[in-house]
Amino acid sequence: TGGSSRPFRVVLLGARGVGKTAIASIFAGAADNEVCEQTVTVDGEKATVTLVDNWDSEDEGGSSQDQCIQTGDAYLLVYSITDRSSFLKASELRISLRQHRPAHHTPIILVGNKCDLVRRREVSVNEGRVCAAVFDCKFIETSAAMQHNVWPAFHGIVQQLRLRRDTK
Ligand code: GDP
Repeated sequence: TGGSSRPFRVVLLGARGVGKTAIASIFAGAADNEVCEQTVTVDGEKATVTLVDNWDSEDEGGSSQDQCIQTGDAYLLVYSITDRSSFLKASELRISLRQHRPAHHTPIILVGNKCDLVRRREVSVNEGRVCAAVFDCKFIETSAAMQHNVWPAFHGIVQQLRLRRDTK
């Protein structure tokens, strides 16, 4: 079941330096590719996920950003808990997503990365949670450096994709 369906396309979005590449390389198993496909087992069922990490934060409003935003089945919206401006950027990106994908109930997880850097924290767990509630998406804090909660984030997005597929 599900094995023959096309891969889920999951796109990493977020400001420069928040840890998208670090998260992608955990998914890829160290390889540092902009696009990587893996089969993952979630709730006992296999799913193929294509992870896209080619967000160009310099291309403000440009066509490569548009393409990124339009082609995902689901999004990991990443900020760094040590960088408030990246948290604000995540909110802006959430709004762009809503504008580009108004008709879809697109699965999105707000990901607060670098949670290992406790003494440099600028965004509280509660702020992350509240923001996710306002933006109607899930929330998780991760540490790519400590390999903490990164796989649960991927599993969570697959679960959401399946829920959406099953209610279609
Ligand atoms: P990107 O620009 O979003 O792709 O960010 P990178 O993955 O290149 O990460 C930027 C910097 O943050 C690098 O020096 C990473 O080693 C570091 N980094 C990424 N994730 C974490 C994390 O969870 N904890 C810590 N302490 N550093 C991290």
